Amino acid sequence: MAKTDWAEAVKPLLKAYKNKQHPLEYKNTYQLLVMVILSAQDSDRNINSIAPKLFEAFPDMAALAKATPDTLMPYGNKVRNFGNKIKWLTELAQKIKQDKDIPLTMEELTALPGIGRKSANVIRRETKQKPEGVIVDLHVVRVAPRIGIATGTDPKKIEKQIMESVPQKDWDLGMCISFLGREICRPTNPKHELCLMKDNCTYYSDLKKGKKINTGCLCFSNQPVLNRLCFIIVVTKVFVCKFCYRNWS
Ligand code: SF4
Repeated sequence: MAKTDWAEAVKPLLKAYKNKQHPLEYKNTYQLLVMVILSAQDSDRNINSIAPKLFEAFPDMAALAKATPDTLMPYGNKVRNFGNKIKWLTELAQKIKQDKDIPLTMEELTALPGIGRKSANVIRRETKQKPEGVIVDLHVVRVAPRIGIATGTDPKKIEKQIMESVPQKDWDLGMCISFLGREICRPTNPKHELCLMKDNCTYYSDLKKGKKINTGCLCFSNQPVLNRLCFIIVVTKVFVCKFCYRNWS
């Protein structure tokens, strides 16, 4: 089988989604930084819903630097892992102090508490910095192996594989794949016929050839069994992997 020219194959995806605004509804870099940290392991929708009140109380980095865990707690008690996130936010605010001093290099961002490569890539993308990496969120971890541009479940390895597959000018591809995963390539019932990647997608190609691709998981995420962290939904008695769960909740 001919090797896919990914730089060529992903062009329709880039055309549709490149530079599209991130789903987090931030109004400035301070809000972006805070919301990116809060959104780890949580949905953008949930963070968008709690953000207005949070930013009314803490409108900038200087205000956040004066916050304590007790004063922050009422604004995000529905946010997953909020205890740790509060700790990171207060530490980070006391370090940065002013909005104008928010760092934007990959090195400085990833040195801040609560910010890994994915978050740093999102912040750099949204502030229009030249990409130094590719955003790999849970949607990308699920969809990139389906397409066939990457393998495995390790976000760092997936990021590297995507970076090696397309030129740096197209490194917004991570976010494009994320949008595809949110809109079209859903964990269950992906809309193959509407998909811009259907002519170059390994999963769809295998499906058309009648290959058995169900890995036993309802979301068909092709994750190795040990990485699925499956659990039983008591009522339905079916296994659902963490990717399905995240996308259904
Ligand atoms: S063709 Fe189907 S499986 Fe492949 S990326 Fe598109 S929706 Fe997902």
